[in-house]
Parts: sequence; C-alpha cells; structure tokens
Amino acid sequence: MTSSAVNDSVRDGLETERDELRRRLDELTSDGAAAPDFDENFADSAQVAAELGENLSLAAALRDQLVDVEGALARLDDGTYGRCQECGDAISQARLEAMPATPFCIAHA
Ligand SMILES: [Zn+2]
Repeated sequence: MTSSAVNDSVRDGLETERDELRRRLDELTSDGAAAPDFDENFADSAQVAAELGENLSLAAALRDQLVDVEGALARLDDGTYGRCQECGDAISQARLEAMPATPFCIAHA
C-alpha cells in the first residue's frame, strides 16, 4: 500500500470521528439549551444542574478530542501527519493505529 493510500484511509477514519464528535456535541448543547426552572422545585433543579454540569464536562472532553482530530486532518493536508508536534520524530505506526489523532510521539504524550 502506498503512503497516500494509507493517508486516505486515515483521513476517512478521522473525518468519520470528527462528524461523530460534532453530532454528539450538537446533541449535548441542544439538551443544555433547555434551561432548568429553578423556582419550580429546588431538589429537581439541583438534579438538573448536576446533569448540566456533567454535560458540560463531557462537552469539554468532546471538544478536546475534536481539536485533536481537526489538527490531525490539518496535518494530513500539510504533510506533517505522523510527526510528533514536540520533537518532529515519526510517531510509531502502532501508536497511530491506536490513536490516529495523536499529535505526539510516545515520549511526549
Ligand atoms: Zn516527540
């Protein structure tokens, strides 16, 4: 397999992951848009607030992943994909297969 064919399959995987992350973020943010009514019942409101807090931290984690995935796609475009952003060394194939969006080699993870 040529390296460009490898990159094409990596790109497909990353684009699929990016779309999935965006879809989940959309769901989370539209749920969060339903503002809880704090006057109705304090206990329920506390529960709603707790769930909103969980959604916010989940959304933050999803956004971090999305940044990594978009960064990896950008590196595919500029030809630096598979290089550590810290030291510039090649990231091992096994590591890239496990974490296609990783910007760092094992030493800089
Ligand atoms: Zn490195």
